[in-house]
Amino acid sequence: MSPFTVPDFSEFQALIHTPTSTDVEAVLARDKLHINDLATLLSPAASEMLPALAARSAVITGQRFGHTIQLYAPVYVSSFCANKCVYCGFSAENKIERRVLTLDEVEVEMNILADQGFNHILLVSGEAPAKVGVDYLAELARRTRARFAAITIEVQPLSTEEYRTLFEAGITGVAVYQETYDRGVYDAVHLSGNKADYDYRLKVPARVAEAGMREVGIGFLMGLADWRSEGFALGLHLQWLRKHFWRTNLTVSFPRMRPAEGAFDPPQPTGEKELTQLLLALRIFDHDVGLVLSTREEKRYRNGMIGLGPTRYSAGSCTAPGGYANPDLAGEQFSVGDHRDLQTVCDSIRKRGHDPVCKDWDATFQKGL
Ligand code: SF4
Repeated sequence: MSPFTVPDFSEFQALIHTPTSTDVEAVLARDKLHINDLATLLSPAASEMLPALAARSAVITGQRFGHTIQLYAPVYVSSFCANKCVYCGFSAENKIERRVLTLDEVEVEMNILADQGFNHILLVSGEAPAKVGVDYLAELARRTRARFAAITIEVQPLSTEEYRTLFEAGITGVAVYQETYDRGVYDAVHLSGNKADYDYRLKVPARVAEAGMREVGIGFLMGLADWRSEGFALGLHLQWLRKHFWRTNLTVSFPRMRPAEGAFDPPQPTGEKELTQLLLALRIFDHDVGLVLSTREEKRYRNGMIGLGPTRYSAGSCTAPGGYANPDLAGEQFSVGDHRDLQTVCDSIRKRGHDPVCKDWDATFQKGL
C-alpha cells in the first residue's frame, strides 16, 4: 500500500474554480460522486446555491443516519505541549499556567460528565508524551471503560503498536487533524516539535486504522489556508482511507479558528457560510462520513444546522484541564461559542424533530472486533 500524498494545491485550482451553476446542478442530481464532483461542490458557483446543497445533504443524512445526532463531551487532561504551533493557546512558548490532571482528577471530570448523561467522551491533551503517555491513557481507559460507551482520544501521534495497546485497554477511536494540507502553510505555522513534520503527521490516520481502532477522525483548521483547496485535499484523504480501511468508521471535524492565547490572527479567516458549504459538500460527496460540529460554533448556528448534515455535537464543553470540577480555572485552549449544557442541547435537537443519542455503541461489540 503506497502512503497517502497530497498534490500541490495549484494542481486542482482549475477543478475548483471553473464549474458553473449547471455543473453544480448536474452533481446534485447524481447519487455516486467522483472526487472531481467534490471540487464542483466546493466551487464559487456552488457558494451561490447553498439552499440546493442543503436540501440534498439533508436527504442523504436522513437516509444514512435517520434523525439522530450523537452527543459527546471533551475532557482536557493536560495543557502541556512540546510543540510550537503559532495558532494554539497551548503552544510551548506561550506563558500560561499549565496543568496535567492525575488519573484520579480525570476520573472526577469524567464522572461529572457521566452524571450529566454523557456516554461518549473525547480525551484531549497537548502533545507532551512525558506528561500524558500510552501508560497513562491505557490505565485511564481501563479504569473508566465500564462507565462509558465510547472513549476516544485527541493526543500526540502514536505508533501502530501503541494504538493497539490503547484499543485493547478500551479506547475506541482517535482524532488526528492535519491542521492544514498546504505544505508551505504547514511549515510556516508548525515551528518545532514532532508536529513540524508534515509527512509524519499525514500518515497517522492510516496507522490508527491499521491498529484496528473503530473510528478515525480527520480534519483541518479552518482559517490557515484556502478552505476550498483544503476541503478538496481532505476529500482525497477521506477517499484514500475508505479505499484502504473500509471497515473503519470515519469522521470529519471542522475546527474553525477562535481567539486563543497568543493572539494569532488567522491568515484566511472563514465564516459560517464557508463552513456550511464545506460541511454540505462533504456530506454529498461521502454519504457515510460522520460530521462533527463542536461548541466552537455559536448556538444559533448549531441549531440551524440540525438535520442538514452534522451527525455529532459536543455540549457543555470546557477546554481547560480540570474545568468541569473547577469552572473558574483559567488556561483554556480556545474560547467556546456555545455554552449550553447537555440537556439544553438535547432539547433543541428534539424541538427540531431530531433524536439526541447519548449512546450508540457498547464495549461488548468491541470484544468481538
Ligand atoms: S495544536 Fe496541539 S500540538 Fe500544537 S501547540 Fe496546540 S496542543 Fe500542542
